Amino acid sequence: MRELTELRAEFPILRQRANGYPLIYLDNAATTQKPETVINAVNDYYREANANVHRASHFLSARATHAFEDARDTVRRFLNAGHTDEIIWTRGATEAINLVAHSWGLSTLKSGDEILISAMEHHANIVPWQQVCQFTGASLKVIPIHTSGELDMEAFRQLLGSQTRLVSICQVSNAIGTVNPVSDIIREAHTVGARVLIDGSQAVAHFPVDVHALDCDFYVFSGHKVYGPTGIGVLYGKRDLLQTMPPWQTGGEMIERVSFEGTTFNSPPFRFEAGTPNVVGALGLAAAIDFLNQCDHDQLQAHEKSLLEQATEGLNAIPGLQIIGTAPQKTSVISFVMEGLHNQDIGTLLDQQGIAVRTGHHCTMPLMSALNLSGTVRASIALYNTEAEIQALIEAVAALQKDSL
Ligand code: PLP
Repeated sequence: MRELTELRAEFPILRQRANGYPLIYLDNAATTQKPETVINAVNDYYREANANVHRASHFLSARATHAFEDARDTVRRFLNAGHTDEIIWTRGATEAINLVAHSWGLSTLKSGDEILISAMEHHANIVPWQQVCQFTGASLKVIPIHTSGELDMEAFRQLLGSQTRLVSICQVSNAIGTVNPVSDIIREAHTVGARVLIDGSQAVAHFPVDVHALDCDFYVFSGHKVYGPTGIGVLYGKRDLLQTMPPWQTGGEMIERVSFEGTTFNSPPFRFEAGTPNVVGALGLAAAIDFLNQCDHDQLQAHEKSLLEQATEGLNAIPGLQIIGTAPQKTSVISFVMEGLHNQDIGTLLDQQGIAVRTGHHCTMPLMSALNLSGTVRASIALYNTEAEIQALIEAVAALQKDSL
């Protein structure tokens, strides 16, 4: 891997000061910062290639279409999917899950069917299924977690049955960093004939993902959490499954033939991409993946792991501080609460020293209820964070604890 300082220098936003201090950005689970190559890809597109895709026969449209479809192939390789038509562009993970819920869910599920999710899901992987259940009469079942933040796999096995049609679960928890045993979950769910959707929003920036090896039916993620732009995301779906699914949004691009007597639909992926797509977002995401591919994955993982260990050790030593989520398999997220200090106050006081963390429920209200908490302080790590930044966080939190006594 390139030296950390060199790599960090590629992120112009990190050179800023915040509230008079050097910016320490530890809110990477919310969104990551963008390297120069991603910013340039967005700029260059508007300077040199802007045109609508798949529509016109002119030079610029051909250039834009080519780049857009190349970006799709970059994502295919990133996920190790077998075919580019298994990669559908969406606005993000939320829209990707909604696509599956509306298209597959509404057309497949009926009363008596069950969807399994876990207690640690982001609202984006809860609410769409609640809606689908309301419309179809299916029911939503929740896999509980242990106090460590690990999934209760025994409970999962008890809940899984012939009535289970879908298991929809995050690979990594955005609130507490638990890495779930998704390979086991997928394998076991398939034995009862259930489909599996993996929410990879918090995984793709931290370790390689191989949808072929995982054998999941659907995989979703957002571009902005993997150093790419906002407003672009991905749904991977197995080819034979996508081919059976009806469209969810309709209009231009997704059709084969339209007449007032009736309309026939395009094949995947275009069937699920109604209207003008976010072309520049797709190019930006491809640039982000190229950026990540240039890093040594083993070194990247080792670096993030060592920062997580440093943060865990340092914060654990602070009296009155409790780390939430102590699963042995964890990545890049550290959540905590402190006796006598509200999480929001901690966030504000850290911000005054240039340290950006997230506070509150992290869009996981049911998880917070299960843990009997109203919220936590969450520091989340990316490849550009440094030991010195983690040390500054630990010292700032320790000082808050002393001040509060
Ligand atoms: N799933 C998880 C695990 C997340 O962390 C997030 C965002 O925080 C989402 C889904 C939703 O992502 P987006 O808001 O980019 O659609």
